[in-house]
Amino acid sequence: MALVNEHYLKLSEDYFFTEIEKRINAFSVTHPKSKVIRLGVGDVSRPLPSEAVSAMHAAIDELADEETFRGYGPGEGYRFLIDKIIKFDYQPRGVSLDADEIFISDGAKTDTGNLGHILGRDNIIAITDPVYPVYENAAIMSGRAGRLTDEGKWSNIVYINCTPENGFKPELPAERVDVIYLCYPNNPTGTVLTKAELKQWVDYAIENQAVIIYDGAYEAYITEEDIPRSIYEIKGAKKVAIEVRSFSKTAGFTGLRCSYTVVPKELIAYTLMGDKIPLNKLWLRRQTTYFNGSSYVAQRGAEATYTRKGKKQIADLIEYYLTNAGIIRKELKDLGFTLYGGINSPYIWVKTLNDMPSWKFFQQLLYEANIVGTPGSGFGLNGEGYFRFSGFCSRENVEEAMVRMRKWV
Ligand code: PLP
Repeated sequence: MALVNEHYLKLSEDYFFTEIEKRINAFSVTHPKSKVIRLGVGDVSRPLPSEAVSAMHAAIDELADEETFRGYGPGEGYRFLIDKIIKFDYQPRGVSLDADEIFISDGAKTDTGNLGHILGRDNIIAITDPVYPVYENAAIMSGRAGRLTDEGKWSNIVYINCTPENGFKPELPAERVDVIYLCYPNNPTGTVLTKAELKQWVDYAIENQAVIIYDGAYEAYITEEDIPRSIYEIKGAKKVAIEVRSFSKTAGFTGLRCSYTVVPKELIAYTLMGDKIPLNKLWLRRQTTYFNGSSYVAQRGAEATYTRKGKKQIADLIEYYLTNAGIIRKELKDLGFTLYGGINSPYIWVKTLNDMPSWKFFQQLLYEANIVGTPGSGFGLNGEGYFRFSGFCSRENVEEAMVRMRKWV
């Protein structure tokens, strides 16, 4: 008799975003003439940078030719891309990395979930609340989360409260934790950590022999000077942190799929007997066993984002989304909303009007202004009463949505 992984049965049946889609569909069926503006999505809307497109056309031509055809690539990624990442993403920030510390992948989501494979089952996992839901889901599926309490939290997960009182920035946990997921710039709150704030976490991890999984999917949106773009800008971080980055939000690769994860050789975790084990070796083993690499074409596309023209094109893309976020931020602020983010992030985290629950706000906004946002409660208990808007849609839609918002409020 084949047994299922019963941990999967603990997950709520409807993934949060499916519920949003269902509600939009229900509205569209009953209001076929209304134009819904989606101001909440985490997906990009602008086409790929032309430099990446040309490079991918050329890559396809190579694959179509007997002389230049390539099959499986290296599981850890092609050197042509790894070398560019080191040269352009890390060296200018004073971070030196070896090529074998970088692993190309097909998504930050993939890796933040899969990293659990190389970490012991009994680790105490800490996540922020609110949080990008994948970290919690991965802990549940792998059997690390324990049981769901009446309060709606998982018994073995330590939730680091991010609330208006601390400006939605995490404070060090009172109890000892082993694996900490941090995501900055943050999804969903759009907040960032300064160097001094991030240093506290690195120091905590060093003191407690913990590992930080640092999700930097939105690193390219940082505009302010004192905000670290990489956790490795903090002294000692290579000993305790894995950094995950993606071309999804940086270069519009959400549908194409290309990302990378840095696992420094200095980073160690322990056996129960206290032996020190470099996680780099385990991740290499995991990737070369389960993964045959991100596609050659996508990696050539990603490489092209580092040319002079490519860099300019992705800077323009980010500028476009950040300008959208700035418009939303300004308009909502003028309308009297309390909000966070939108400066170093495409996300604006907004307190609902009159303490309205997130889903009620969602329904009212959908039915009365035909605008869709993301209910904050989908990101954790502390998200209740909040709402996430994003700058990822078109400028026209942002502007129209703000006109509607003014009328609605
Ligand atoms: N990490 C965070 C915080 C995200 O918000 C997202 C996507 O929305 C991802 C990772 C997923 O990135 P990728 O497209 O590389 O899987």
